[in-house]
Amino acid sequence: MGSVLCEHCAATCCRYLALPIDKPTNTRDYDDIRWYLLHAGVTVFVEDGDWYIQYQTACKLLGEDNLCTIYETRPEICREYEADGCDYPGGTYGYDHHFTHAKQIEAYYFEKTGKKLGTPEPAKKSKRPKSPRKKKTG
Ligand code: SF4
Ligand code: SF4
Repeated sequence: MGSVLCEHCAATCCRYLALPIDKPTNTRDYDDIRWYLLHAGVTVFVEDGDWYIQYQTACKLLGEDNLCTIYETRPEICREYEADGCDYPGGTYGYDHHFTHAKQIEAYYFEKTGKKLGTPEPAKKSKRPKSPRKKKTG
């Protein structure tokens, strides 16, 4: 269907960008993802075990007619993108996980560890020896 399909689409594929992020391995990593998800237009998804952050933000060079205004010189990543299996139908894309709200990563983390994100770690005891108390004189 290719370009025919694009004629009926509001350029869904030009309205976001997704970047790989490190797979979270500790509490801080998960809490950072929680922070990402507190921002409007940001989601995080996992595909084939790889983690990505996605920003819902339209390309500045998308025309009001939903066509690329620099089609001949568009970036390589845009050239490589094919309508076959593209964003047009929407749906779940078969992601392993798709987090759209901070509550979802909180629940995911709780399920994995039994711990809650956003709970400050108890203060660690200082290993510094206490200074000896001074005797009062006089
Ligand atoms: S490639 Fe898919 S998502 Fe992009 S404009 Fe064409 S139909 Fe829409
Ligand atoms: S450069 Fe063109 S094809 Fe690439 S995202 Fe922007 S509008 Fe879409």
